Amino acid sequence: MKADAVVIGAGIHGCSVALHLARSGIVPVVFEQSHPGRHASGVNAGGVRRLGRHFSEIPLSVAAMKLWWNIRDLVDDDCGFESSGQVKVAESEAEFELLKSRVKKLEMDGYEHEEIITRSELKIRIPAISDHCHGAIICHGDGQAKPFRTVRAFYAAAKHAGARFFPDQVVDSIKRTGQTWKVTTRDFSCEAPLLINCAGAWGNQIAALLDEQVPLEPTALMLMISERLPHFCTPVVGATQRTLSFKQFSNGTVLIGGGLQGYVDMSRQQGHVDIDQLAINARTARDIFPLMEKARIVRCWAGIEGVTPDQIPVISPSSTYPDAYHVFGFSAHGFQLGPITGRIISDLVNHQSTELPIEDFSIDRF
Ligand SMILES: Cc1cc2nc3c(=O)[nH]c(=O)nc-3n(C[C@H](O)[C@H](O)[C@H](O)COP(=O)(O)OP(=O)(O)OC[C@H]3O[C@@H](n4cnc5c(N)ncnc54)[C@H](O)[C@@H]3O)c2cc1C
Repeated sequence: MKADAVVIGAGIHGCSVALHLARSGIVPVVFEQSHPGRHASGVNAGGVRRLGRHFSEIPLSVAAMKLWWNIRDLVDDDCGFESSGQVKVAESEAEFELLKSRVKKLEMDGYEHEEIITRSELKIRIPAISDHCHGAIICHGDGQAKPFRTVRAFYAAAKHAGARFFPDQVVDSIKRTGQTWKVTTRDFSCEAPLLINCAGAWGNQIAALLDEQVPLEPTALMLMISERLPHFCTPVVGATQRTLSFKQFSNGTVLIGGGLQGYVDMSRQQGHVDIDQLAINARTARDIFPLMEKARIVRCWAGIEGVTPDQIPVISPSSTYPDAYHVFGFSAHGFQLGPITGRIISDLVNHQSTELPIEDFSIDRF
C-alpha cells in the first residue's frame, strides 16, 4: 500500500501526529503493535500539568495547556479533562526555599503559571493536608484527564480526518529507497515519503533501524487506586523531594503514583508491580494525607514508559535521514504534551519550522 506518511505507534503522540498531519492534508498510515492506547498513553495517571516541568519543556507545556482548555475543539470530546489545579507541597523549610527559588526563576523567565502559597493558604485549600507541610506551589488551570478516553478521542479524530490505523502490526523493517520509505509489518508493507517514529518505550529500537542510537531506559511505572472515600481533595497533589502524584476522583477513589518502578518485560510488553516500592508510595501518601492511614488499596498496575538520561523527550528530525522524525522518550510526563507534539510535527513537515523551541529535544544530543 501507499500513503503520504507512516506513523509508528498509536499512543497519544502517534495519534496526535496522525490527527494534525491528516488535517493538514497529509494522510498517514499508522502501524500499532498492539491497539491504540494499550501502553503508557492509556494507563497513566492522567495528570495534565505545567507544574514542575523541566525548563526546556515549559514553552511546549504552556502551548499544550491552551489546547487542553479547549480540547473538545480539537478532538470532539472533553477527554474527562478537569481544570482542578495542581499543587506541589514542601515538607520542610528547606524544600519550601527550593520551591520559592524555582518560582523566582520562572518569573525572571516571564512565566507566571506557578505561584507560591503559604502553609495557612495551603491548609485553607486542602484542610486534610498534614500539618508538617510548610507551603506549596500551586498551578491554577492545570488538572487531570482520563487517559484511555483521551487517546481514543485522538485516535477517533485522526481516523475521522482520514488516517488509516493498523493494530496488531509490529513494524519490523524500515528501508529507504530513493525518496521513499518502505515500512514492513507481518501483514503489510507501506511506501511513503515521510516517516514518524512515535514508538514510546520502543522508540530507540525504531531509531536504531535509522542508525541512530538513543540510550532509552524502559521502565514500569506503577499506580494504585484506593476504595471510595468522602471527598477531601480537589487539586492533584505532588511532593517536592519524594515521589508522589495524588488525586481524588469524583467517585471518591484516590489514585496514588508518581514514578516508582516495578519490573518490565519488554518481550511480552508487560509491566509488573513491585509491592515493596508501592508500599513506599503508600507511606508518602499517608504522611501527606494522614486520613489515608486506614484507606484500603483496591487495584494496582504498572505501565511501560521510556526514560531518557536527561528525562526530556526526543522531538526531532532524524539526524541520519531526510523526511524522518522522532517523537518518543517522554520520561513519565508526556501525556500532557500529547496535543502539541502533533502540531509541532505538522509544522515541521509543512513549513520546515515550528514556533516552539525544540532544539533541546534533538536526537543529536546523545
Ligand atoms: C503509570 C504511568 C503514569 C503516568 N502519569 C503521567 C501523568 O500523570 N501525566 C503525564 O503527562 N504523563 C504521565 N505518564 C507518561 C505518559 O503516559 C507518557 O509519556 C506518554 O503516554 C507517552 O506516549 P507515547 O505515545 O510516546 O507512548 P505510548 O503510549 O507507549 O505509545 C507508543 C506506542 O507505540 C507502539 N509501538 C512500539 N513499537 C512499535 C513497533 N515496532 N511497531 C508498531 N507499534 C509499536 C506501542 O505499542 C505503543 O502503543 C505516565 C506514564 C505511566 C506509565
